[in-house]
Amino acid sequence: MVVEIGHFIDGKRVAGTSGRFSDVYNPSTGEVEKRVSLANVEELNTAVASAKKAQTAWAATNPQRRARVFFKYVNLLNEHMDELAELLAREHGKTLDDARGDVIRGLEVCEFVCGIPHLQKGDYTEGAGPGIDMYSMRQPVGIGAGITPFNFPGMIPMWMFAPALACGNAFILKPSERDPSLPMRLAELLIEAGLPAGVLNVVNGDKEAVDGILDHEDIGAISFVGSTPIAQYVYSRGTANAKRVQAFGGAKNHMIIMPDADLDQVADALLGAGFGSAGERCMAISVAVPVGKETADRLVQKLKPMVEKLRVGPYNDKDADFGPLVSSAAHERVKGLVDRGIEEGADLVIDGRDFRMQGYENGFFMSGCLFDNVTADMDIYKAEIFGPVLSIVRAETYEEAIQYPMNHMYGNGTAIYTRDGDTARDFASRINIGMVGINVPIPVPLAYHTFGGWKSSSFGDLNQHGTDSIKFWTRTKTITSRWPSGVKEGAEFSIPTMD
Ligand code: NAD
Repeated sequence: MVVEIGHFIDGKRVAGTSGRFSDVYNPSTGEVEKRVSLANVEELNTAVASAKKAQTAWAATNPQRRARVFFKYVNLLNEHMDELAELLAREHGKTLDDARGDVIRGLEVCEFVCGIPHLQKGDYTEGAGPGIDMYSMRQPVGIGAGITPFNFPGMIPMWMFAPALACGNAFILKPSERDPSLPMRLAELLIEAGLPAGVLNVVNGDKEAVDGILDHEDIGAISFVGSTPIAQYVYSRGTANAKRVQAFGGAKNHMIIMPDADLDQVADALLGAGFGSAGERCMAISVAVPVGKETADRLVQKLKPMVEKLRVGPYNDKDADFGPLVSSAAHERVKGLVDRGIEEGADLVIDGRDFRMQGYENGFFMSGCLFDNVTADMDIYKAEIFGPVLSIVRAETYEEAIQYPMNHMYGNGTAIYTRDGDTARDFASRINIGMVGINVPIPVPLAYHTFGGWKSSSFGDLNQHGTDSIKFWTRTKTITSRWPSGVKEGAEFSIPTMD
């Protein structure tokens, strides 16, 4: 029997009432194992009403107590790590080790917000004017919402709800309909950690739920992560409704390889960053730009056997380098883009399109593909492929090489491999991209720094986690105060200067 997933409202799981569902697959077998309810606006309204009721008391809970919920939550996440990784990987397709990493990256944001008493503290100036003191405080927005993608069903929901809740907000999470089981379990564990019912609600759904969030008058701030067209849509509609919105989109991340780089290290880095999680990461390296013909020829020679030997397997195969793609539609799309690359004249050095996994013939598997001689006018260069496909774009000089990431529409992440400090420094300074790695292929900042891209990879202001997240989920109020002993006689008609 197919398991049914509803919503998590008012501290408990509830069945969906809309009558609409989406199938949830195990991508390793290609079978439908669950179906998830797709909420209608009435169900969303019930969740928001529950959040509204719970928010005032939660905001009035002192920050030490809010922090203690997260201390306990971190322990619970660690205790349940294997169960969480299994839930995640079975619906997503990534390997269990990779799934643990997904949960750990979210858990680290929960650890970060354990410092909320310090992070949310205000500022105070004594004697800002005659008898005048001035102070500012960070108050929660009220109700926040998060709309998340399929590729990090643990980390990205926690990026959003951990700081939002720690700041005293209530929260509505709308996870991806492709892998909803983990976010539901994350909510359940937060209740076990001591979060009052209603403070975090999970509403599963599709566009109808998202539009309901974008239009709901009680929701003050929205965080979105997903593809660029939807990020742009969420940003436009949400801000038109006077909400604070941060919306993070797609990516095409380049690695520049200088002739002085250690090519063994480069090949290892490209293998992990290009093909890990079947390339379904917004920080995956999908374009390698070796500088000089000799560097490129040597790199291709090194990569060829390594890509050929990549080990693909079901999510629970301990020896697999990566698992299947998330859905049959994603599988078809990625294969179609590889076909397109051949038509466009790129050299397909390794072809992983027809890979079939023995014993898992209906799984959405594809092995690694390696393209050489890709050029900037090709669709496979412009598009975010989001699959196990690495493209090599050859450049003659460093100056030519950096023009590729500089001129690409996306600006999420990038990396340079070199032994030369001057080149690395110049690259870090000039590149118009949000996250930069120097001899680090996937430069995802840790929880106490902030995560976010530039250009079409991000709309709105303020990044995920770090101190930006505290700013995003709070509003500043500044109070100017004077007691009667400091008040001068007589009306003041000019703008107060406090001198
Ligand atoms: P997606 O845009 O299809 O879906 C993201 C969310 O939007 C989901 O919750 C989905 O239900 C909802 N959605 C989908 N279509 C919608 C519509 N028409 N109207 C309203 N809501 C809609 O993205 P995905 O396929 O789940 O995730 C992959 C994408 O996310 C990639 O482009 C990847 O680069 C990007 N991503 C970006 C980052 C980042 O930080 N920049 C991180 C992870 C993933």
